[in-house]
Amino acid sequence: MRIARGVAALLIASVVLVMPAVPAQAAQGEAAKPQKAAQGEAAKPQKKISTVVSLTFDDGDVTHVAAARMLEKRKMRGTFYINTGTVGDKLKMTRAQIATIAKGGHEIGGHTLTHLRLSELLPSEQRTQICDDRRTLATWGYRATTLAYPFGSVDSDAKKVARQCGYDAARTVGGLKEWGCPTCQAAEPFRPADRYGIRTPSSVREDTSLHEIKQQVLNAEKSGGVLPLVFHRVCAGCGVYSVSPKVLDAFLGWLATRKSHGTVVKTMRDAVGAKYRPLPRQ
Ligand SMILES: [Zn+2]
Repeated sequence: MRIARGVAALLIASVVLVMPAVPAQAAQGEAAKPQKAAQGEAAKPQKKISTVVSLTFDDGDVTHVAAARMLEKRKMRGTFYINTGTVGDKLKMTRAQIATIAKGGHEIGGHTLTHLRLSELLPSEQRTQICDDRRTLATWGYRATTLAYPFGSVDSDAKKVARQCGYDAARTVGGLKEWGCPTCQAAEPFRPADRYGIRTPSSVREDTSLHEIKQQVLNAEKSGGVLPLVFHRVCAGCGVYSVSPKVLDAFLGWLATRKSHGTVVKTMRDAVGAKYRPLPRQ
């Protein structure tokens, strides 16, 4: 990536040097500043920053069936983190509904068996929660490669266990720039320093405005990288951890237009290049 950018920079620089009379060719979009380009700024052409937004939906909520369709309408694919221990419960998706989402091209990831705080469990209990959940997903036909820790609650043991259970990356909640942390980094690098502790802004809540969600993307675009967003229920006025379909749809419509700014939507797996790793022996 870096090499390609370097080559592109050299190419653009040499175009300017060879053809100083044609500044418009030197940098598309910089046509308004041809004089500057001719004055030696050509050595620093504007670099194309790309940002990947991952739309993640936790807890296998029944409202995610409609949410997945909203994404599909925009040709976007999301990541749906499932607790296999509560599938089919009240307000949760059934296996058939999860299958429908998976058929739509979305990622199915693990969210542990029963949504306990992993940092409060012994490593042996963490192993049951994480490995058995992933094993169940496998028996249902899903090759889960990424995990989301319930409540974003994680410690060093849980990270180790996530790796031992065969996950190739895991998402926490929090740590990235937002209203509560203006000085935090706005996005994860494409190769996150901690693959088992991928950061996000706080979960989107009922009182999170459309403006605030958009601002997180705009902030991420300044540095480029991966911005995972965390959603729970998708319904109007149905709890603190919810987003209304109207706000989500407006956000997705706006997000689609950011493609012209180098921003695209990918599943968590694709955003960080997570590979399938086998389950450990029981
Ligand atoms: Zn959860």
